[in-house]
Amino acid sequence: MENTNIIELKNVTKRFEDDGFVAVEDFNLEVKRGEFVTFLGPSGCGKTTTLRMIAGFDLPTHGEILLNGKSITKLPPYDRPINTVFQRYALFPHMNIYENIAFGLKQKKMPKDVIARKVKRVLTLVDLEGFEERSIDTLSGGQQQRIAIARALVNEPEILLLDEPLGALDLKMRKEMQVELKNMHKKLGITFIYVTHDQEEALTMSDKIVVMNEGKIQQIGTPEDIYNEPVNVFVADFIGESNIFSGIMTKKLKARFCGGEFDCVDDILEGMHVSAVIRPEDVEITKPEEGTIKGVVSSVVFQGIHYEIAIQSGKNEMIVYSTEHIEVGEKVGMKIKPESIHVVIAEDHTNHFQVDINSDYRLEYNNKVLDTSLTKLFKDSKRLSDGTVIDASGEKIDLERAKIHASIQPQDIKMTDNVDEGLIEGKISNLIYQGSYYLYVIHTELEHDFAVYDEYLWNMHDRVGLIMPVDKMSFTIKKSK
Ligand code: ADP
Ligand code: MG
Repeated sequence: MENTNIIELKNVTKRFEDDGFVAVEDFNLEVKRGEFVTFLGPSGCGKTTTLRMIAGFDLPTHGEILLNGKSITKLPPYDRPINTVFQRYALFPHMNIYENIAFGLKQKKMPKDVIARKVKRVLTLVDLEGFEERSIDTLSGGQQQRIAIARALVNEPEILLLDEPLGALDLKMRKEMQVELKNMHKKLGITFIYVTHDQEEALTMSDKIVVMNEGKIQQIGTPEDIYNEPVNVFVADFIGESNIFSGIMTKKLKARFCGGEFDCVDDILEGMHVSAVIRPEDVEITKPEEGTIKGVVSSVVFQGIHYEIAIQSGKNEMIVYSTEHIEVGEKVGMKIKPESIHVVIAEDHTNHFQVDINSDYRLEYNNKVLDTSLTKLFKDSKRLSDGTVIDASGEKIDLERAKIHASIQPQDIKMTDNVDEGLIEGKISNLIYQGSYYLYVIHTELEHDFAVYDEYLWNMHDRVGLIMPVDKMSFTIKKSK
């Protein structure tokens, strides 16, 4: 099958030599030919550094960059069919427009008539036909940026990198240029990799958005995915307006937050701590008795297309957009459709489970003996000749009735194809991309689910064995009264 990925980044990491700062960490991305991909994230999150590695101005500390399936990791910038447009136009002020655009081609000793034809063509593309003789300082900011784009396009790159190209323009100009860039992308059919910290720009222009924070990918998806199904609290918070509450899964498809129990569609295991993300436009205001939760209107602000209404519900505040005006102080109910509630697992995914004590006073899980002894696990506990075990204070531990609680971190569990190799086997029932790794939820025969982090992509419903090293487990004993 033909490889349709024009660019692939594999485990790309950039650590700066001077201070050891890791600006980009384990970045994995596939860009399809002709795609409009946007890196979106706050200032300092590593967008420019990633772009510079793609362009060849910086070398990754680790990882590989592939162009059409072949490594270009160490190829110098001029050997890559890639051109960059920077935020600052970097035009030569003493040259006219023709000379600015023709500069690179003249360096390559291209024939004059070919250069003239190419310059004319790109000037048409950026809608500045006939501007050849004009000097740079007679142009507006938007026009200068179009020249910078024309200068990049004249090399006929396969990929155009644009690093916050509209950042220096005023709002009106920026909006116009967004539309023009999008049209240019369509007309040219080449791949655009675009950088912005402006979420609205990313949402309106891109085929695919890569949300970044602190050097790490948070989520990759279409604008709709990113907006409607943020995978974590960072993405939800960064993109659009959201209400974010912490809560817990009380049952299958039921989440408790903001003082109510809501039906939801995210299948997350019972007992997990979660964050619930709700967009203000997704909350329906009802009569108090008809809502899942109740509250009192604490402020109302008209915003042109809707009112922004703050509703206090116990200790929580919900922001709601509504086209209807409501008085401050009014008691209301709130309803949210299950599909409008986005539940993401909270940061702590520690697995908690119970293990058994067998007749040899060994710990067992899933009828398999754990390679450790009770007395080794519980500091200062002793086993007496009659078989009873006493704890450090000399108190007898009633092993028949004791409950041993075990916990293990998701990153300490390994998945294996060879299901018999694991302490327990199960089926992958949920998979969430966490930026640099995946969070898997494994549903086991014991009706207990495990959270596992793994850098590799497994398939939903795969059967896997879970390898759980005993030395990574921690145990507590619960004495029953
Ligand atoms: P962005 O483009 O998303 O604003 P950058 O990629 O420019 O972010 O920078 C990411 C981080 O790397 C920042 O904290 C920045 O200070 C740091 N950084 C960038 N270049 C260097 C460098 N040459 N040496 C050390 N740190 C750097
Ligand atoms: Mg930058």
